[in-house]
Amino acid sequence: MRVGIGYDSHAFATGRKLILGGVEIPNAKGLAGHSDADAVAHALTDAILGAAGLGDIGRMFPNDDPQWKDASSIDLLNKAFLKVGEAGFQFVHADVTIIMEQPKLAPYVDAMEERLAEALRAGPAQVSVKAKTNEGMGWIGRGEGVAVLPSLRSAEAQESPDGLPRVSPAAPYRTAVRADRGSGRRRKHLPAVPADVAVSLGAFLAGGAS
Ligand SMILES: [Zn+2]
Repeated sequence: MRVGIGYDSHAFATGRKLILGGVEIPNAKGLAGHSDADAVAHALTDAILGAAGLGDIGRMFPNDDPQWKDASSIDLLNKAFLKVGEAGFQFVHADVTIIMEQPKLAPYVDAMEERLAEALRAGPAQVSVKAKTNEGMGWIGRGEGVAVLPSLRSAEAQESPDGLPRVSPAAPYRTAVRADRGSGRRRKHLPAVPADVAVSLGAFLAGGAS
């Protein structure tokens, strides 16, 4: 089981669309940024890369690279997800908190969960989005921008999503073969091998069966 956290913030700017979690939200101002400035997708991208130890969004999609200008950040999240999959990790669950004063996000939370889950090839139940204000305090309270804090769980491909090792029926016996070639000290950790498997394993080690 691996855990990633992320953070992103963007300032409001005029003449921009407000896009959060892949959903366009009607508002007089949008967010400033090189891409579509979707702070939710950005923070989640950092979290999924972090859980896999693959750096951060700025390293993967540099913001001075013209190919990412006005990019759909949901697409960037999906690209990061695919990279993480190639590295042997699977997405399990994300919980995202969006902190901003206005507009109210409650009507858009379900749509955001769906869009984010789509990018992560997951079901909406695997993505939770929560929206809150900063109670009028500080730069968020003054309506200058938005902050997003996600946490995300992923599992290594050989783990099941509940964090237990995902072991194929043959795996203990492959381990036994490897351990048998190693030092005697590892032998005491060998799993018990059922008799029928022990017979075929013995035949395999003797070179008599495939
Ligand atoms: Zn960002």
